[in-house]
Amino acid sequence: MSVAKLIVGNWKMNGLLDDSRARARTLGSAVSALKDSGFDMVLCPPATMINAVADVLAGSPVRHGGQDCHTEASGAFTGNISAGMLKDLGCTHVIVGHSERRQHHAETSALVAAKAAAAHAAGLIAIVCIGETDAERSEGRADAVVSAQLAESLPPSATAENTAIAYEPVWAIGTGKTASADDIKHMHALIRTKASEKVKNGAWLKLLYGGSVKAGNAGEILHLPNVDGVLVGGASLAAEDFLSIAKASVG
Ligand code: PEP
Repeated sequence: MSVAKLIVGNWKMNGLLDDSRARARTLGSAVSALKDSGFDMVLCPPATMINAVADVLAGSPVRHGGQDCHTEASGAFTGNISAGMLKDLGCTHVIVGHSERRQHHAETSALVAAKAAAAHAAGLIAIVCIGETDAERSEGRADAVVSAQLAESLPPSATAENTAIAYEPVWAIGTGKTASADDIKHMHALIRTKASEKVKNGAWLKLLYGGSVKAGNAGEILHLPNVDGVLVGGASLAAEDFLSIAKASVG
């Protein structure tokens, strides 16, 4: 298993072909020029741009992934995309259970587990997102909520090789508020312990932090214990910022 930090960019529903290609080209060239960068970078564009981004990234060490997938391999599911379709476009990863999907599409942890299982069946690495809301934290329920989401969102097929877990406190996503170093250390240690009860070789499972990660705070976050990478939204839309975040993982 690689000890390189995993740096994932979630472009969400942003951009069009031209700017997406340009951003991917900048990142692909920059990471290629580093030779042995010491980090693993994955870009997750909107589905319509995956193919174009894949073309631009060909030959570079930067990989690409999807932002969601369906639980089924194929069928009458208008508007959905299967894990196999992502694999077909050269994706290596897929994000499942992002809080925006849990919130706006009423996704439950059981559904997230089924999506992660579909990703595994297709040969993709599932990035399973979990995290508490502001209200749940204020009520002192953050640990319980995250533990329950973790237990319910990991399918039996999860291994340290085919799964990464992203701890993303909902109140930190896109808000400019970042969890404190102590909170991240505490939650990642909890997740490591709980995940290791479900997943063999849990010590190797990649645990990512997400929530307003920026060039200015990435270095501190990425060097905390049990932080094996970051899932970045807003700051992944600017190539230079995202590259600075990735570079902060080394040295
Ligand atoms: C995300 O979308 O997963 C995320 C963490 O967003 P941001 O970095 O903008 O907070």
